Amino acid sequence: MSDIRQRKHDQKRGSSVEDVIDPPPVNMKPHAVPVVLANNDHTFSLDEEALRKVLLRDEVKDRYVVVISVAGAFRHGKSFLLDFFLRYLNSKYVLKQNTSEWLGSDDAPLEGFSWKGGSERDTTGILMWSDVFLTELLTGEKVAVVLLDTQGTWDSKSTVRECATIFALSTMLSSVQIYNLSSNIQEDDLQHLQLFTEYGRLALADSGKTPFQRLQFLVRDWRFPYEAPYGAVGGQQILKKRLEVNENSHPELESLRKHIKSLFTEIACFLMPHPGIKVATSPTFDGRLGEIDPEFKENLKILVPMLLAPENLVLKRINGQKVKARDLIQYFKSYMAIYKGNELPEPKSMLVATAEANNLSAVADAKETYVTLMEEVCGGNKPYLNTATMESEHRKVKDKAIHQFQSKRKMGGDEFSEKYKEQLEKDLEETFAQFKAHNESKNIFKAARTPAVFFALAVF
Ligand code: GDP
Ligand code: MG
Repeated sequence: MSDIRQRKHDQKRGSSVEDVIDPPPVNMKPHAVPVVLANNDHTFSLDEEALRKVLLRDEVKDRYVVVISVAGAFRHGKSFLLDFFLRYLNSKYVLKQNTSEWLGSDDAPLEGFSWKGGSERDTTGILMWSDVFLTELLTGEKVAVVLLDTQGTWDSKSTVRECATIFALSTMLSSVQIYNLSSNIQEDDLQHLQLFTEYGRLALADSGKTPFQRLQFLVRDWRFPYEAPYGAVGGQQILKKRLEVNENSHPELESLRKHIKSLFTEIACFLMPHPGIKVATSPTFDGRLGEIDPEFKENLKILVPMLLAPENLVLKRINGQKVKARDLIQYFKSYMAIYKGNELPEPKSMLVATAEANNLSAVADAKETYVTLMEEVCGGNKPYLNTATMESEHRKVKDKAIHQFQSKRKMGGDEFSEKYKEQLEKDLEETFAQFKAHNESKNIFKAARTPAVFFALAVF
């Protein structure tokens, strides 16, 4: 953050948020409160009034906050998962039940954040649960637990800015960011993460401290329990593999990994099994436990307390300082103001830069494959091949290389990578011309016709 922005930010922090607020109506059913809303022109607005209603309640406002957020692409069960968080929080912190039966009864529909069909589905924004959960840490410190649900289409064409903003805001405002992914941690998931968190880091003052706190990868529908078991241990194995930097890694991927590691104080991963066919496909499924696979439920019983039990709560810190509920409002305002201004680079240009790097490295890899395979056919120590064989080998190997380029996951989409594919094809044809020339030079019959050799033969 620039000095000016930092100063503005500090001044704002000093301003009062003490104003009296109306208490929420008694008996109002707890619900999801949209606090950050997307406007039609791709900007965002903050519903400050709504935020104040949640965070400025007497019993809440002076407590330090734990902010749990779930982010990731649409329709991968984020809200569904949050509703199990609500069950745990209600059982443990509201009803004060000390039981492992918090998951509830087999036939109760799953309620809370709306997790299926519905008009809000294609909107982008941040929702906050209207109930803040009060508890104590093991140290006796009284804290407030706030839940955030994020929504975004993650459409890489039109809404990069929206997705980046929502992801960045929720990362900046939470103490635990759960990065919800489907089936695996892929290279482009890491690239999205880098892009979006970088967008967050850019907006923050460089305090020399790690900007964000806990990042929890959550892989849904993990299908390889024999490779890495469900849960945190398997998650750690997969994460280690994906974030590993070794001497063979691409420099570009290496910096991506280092970058992600430098942004969070703690990074963990959990592998969730598939919840069962009813959850994934039935239009009449209402979330009841009886229709969810036992293995999924077993893992929920491990995952949820791992994030929400008093001993595992992570307090929100900004610049190393703990944050009270009332201060959080100011941070929402300041951070949103940064994204309104035009001091930050357009994330689209960051996306383009990443997509370019991706495509170039895919071109380089494909070219390498082409050269390696062609060397095996017509390299320096291979015998001369006739033209037809050369041509057909070239076509085969070229197809392989192009296929490799196309199947590599790259940011920016197919349209973006079209020109890189054309470049690759051109490069391969040029390389082929060199192979051909080299092959010709091995043709002793043709060579015999050159005068120098003719002379040598004559002498012989
Ligand atoms: P969100 O857009 O990420 O918030 O997704 P939702 O929570 O609204 O869930 C979208 C759909 O995915 C719902 O129909 C759920 O029944 C289903 N679902 C929830 N959890 C899982 C899961 O772990 N795996 C699969 N395959 N589907 C899930
Ligand atoms: Mg949702």
